[in-house]
Amino acid sequence: MVACARIDNRELNLITFAQMKIETLAVHAGHTIDSATGAVAAPIYLSTTYERDIGGTYSRGFMYTRNNNPNRQALERGVSLLEGGETSAAFGSGMAAAMALFQSLTPGDHVLAHVDAYYGTSRLLREIFLRWGLKADFIDMSKPDEVRRVLRPQTKLAWTETPSNPLLKIVDLAAIAQIVHEAGALCVCDNTWSPVLQRPFELGADLVLHSTTKYFGGHCDVAGGIVIAKKDSGFFQRVRCIQYEGGAVPSPFDCWLILRGIRTLPWRMRAHSENAMKIAEFLAQHRKVARVHYPGLPSHPGHDIAAKQMSMFGGMLSFEVKDGSDAAMSAAAKTKIFIRATSLGGVESLIEHRASIEGPGTTSPEGLLRLSIGLENADDLMGDLDQALG
Ligand code: PLP
Repeated sequence: MVACARIDNRELNLITFAQMKIETLAVHAGHTIDSATGAVAAPIYLSTTYERDIGGTYSRGFMYTRNNNPNRQALERGVSLLEGGETSAAFGSGMAAAMALFQSLTPGDHVLAHVDAYYGTSRLLREIFLRWGLKADFIDMSKPDEVRRVLRPQTKLAWTETPSNPLLKIVDLAAIAQIVHEAGALCVCDNTWSPVLQRPFELGADLVLHSTTKYFGGHCDVAGGIVIAKKDSGFFQRVRCIQYEGGAVPSPFDCWLILRGIRTLPWRMRAHSENAMKIAEFLAQHRKVARVHYPGLPSHPGHDIAAKQMSMFGGMLSFEVKDGSDAAMSAAAKTKIFIRATSLGGVESLIEHRASIEGPGTTSPEGLLRLSIGLENADDLMGDLDQALG
């Protein structure tokens, strides 16, 4: 059990992070009062290099910024505590974190990936790692029998993402983790869309990935990614090695921004989810809308599993307009509050036509618009969608 450093420093009550509720943990995990100055907000350590002791060691724990630095260490500690893992490795983007996971495998290993995973992850596998010698199957992981069907003795890793992108399919994490473990493979969960709301380690995942560019940063002003391990295993040591040997690391300032974002994360996720629920219900009744994909709606095929494994349903949803691609593009062109932009997880609401962003090979329906619901008032957002849909 890790003791709370701030309270330890001041020799007050010994309270452990494990005893804290998630909101308290998010405010305090990874944070210490600066012992030299008493600064409450952590300093940013721009130094790329650190002084060596007379005897040749590095007793203060830092040597060179690519290997480690105080801001990255604080971020990794904070995220490990928040997600409930033993250790983590921060990267310069979500894709750099995904890349390190795949690079930690061996050519010839087999990977299972969700067919509705983030298209960048699928592209990474198809365009880089198949040529590098990994084998991969893309299947609908919302169907456990599909997973059983394609497992092979060489399967080393199953990549789950739930809710998935952009169809918000729900993967039963506990069921998939069990099947994958029986085959001797590792279960990864890309939890980018549901930080705090979903606890993949408690459901059996071995590794969790976040694009911290999204909800962790929370303000569309910093890129990052992180891999968290439930146990500090030999596999994770390879991820760690790729992190500091490969060097796709976040800057100290990026780490500082992301750690700051975490302090408000549980409250932001609650507000994103409340807004998204209202907007999903509104769109489900709209005359111009054919279908809404949001796991909070009882009509969603994954609703019961989502209700079991998520505390709220998150801030992302997508919907299909009745008249196809042109009607979708025209609605996106008319919004006044929703901003036409890719990405997600910021305070401002975003709208995007996924098929045209993803390009050739997209599996997104032509009439689908994806929404990242921000922290504006839900009434204003509904009014904006209503006038844009016409
Ligand atoms: N995983 C998911 C679910 C995402 O939505 C994204 C980006 O949108 C990524 C990973 C990639 O993260 P990044 O853009 O930080 O590389």
